Amino acid sequence: VTERTIQVIRNRIRAVPDHPGPGVVFRDITPLMEDGPSLHAAVDALAEATKDLDYDRVISAEARGFVFGTALAYRSRKGLVLARKPGKLPREVISVSYELEYGTDSLEIHADSIPPGARVLVADDLLATGGTARAMCELVEKSGGSVAGCAFLIELAFLEGRKRLSDYNVVSLINYS
Ligand code: AMP
Repeated sequence: VTERTIQVIRNRIRAVPDHPGPGVVFRDITPLMEDGPSLHAAVDALAEATKDLDYDRVISAEARGFVFGTALAYRSRKGLVLARKPGKLPREVISVSYELEYGTDSLEIHADSIPPGARVLVADDLLATGGTARAMCELVEKSGGSVAGCAFLIELAFLEGRKRLSDYNVVSLINYS
């Protein structure tokens, strides 16, 4: 992935100060998704960054995670596992709770989504505290699979999400410190 490509992608990510609360800089990827060549470049760059990882399935969390999870799964011809907020999936689920700044949240997958022994790539738009990605890793392992790696378009390095993912191979394209 060239510096030029990273710059093209970076230029389409808008910083929104004080959203959703004071002091938070929200990294808005909607301009990136709305621009065809930029979206294409971002997906290709993420695919390039993960090409040496050996995986059978991709897992991603709603909603922005689905965008990149789907694109990577399609491109690598692998299946996609949807990690959803509680109560959305119709059949038996496996559930993992994780800490938020205030309170907890959880993610669920269908109990049969990850066959034992499957190697799974965790994909999301952005790594912040790592809580969401960590929960997806736990869902993979609870299912009897293993985490092939974690891939993010954006990493907020100052939140040290990598520390919570220290057991795994983590790649990201764009870093904000
Ligand atoms: P975390 O679980 O803390 O790593 O947060 C991950 C999820 O929260 C990502 O999938 C993002 O969609 C969202 N998120 C957290 N912080 C930001 C931010 N500053 N800008 C945009 N999205 C964020």
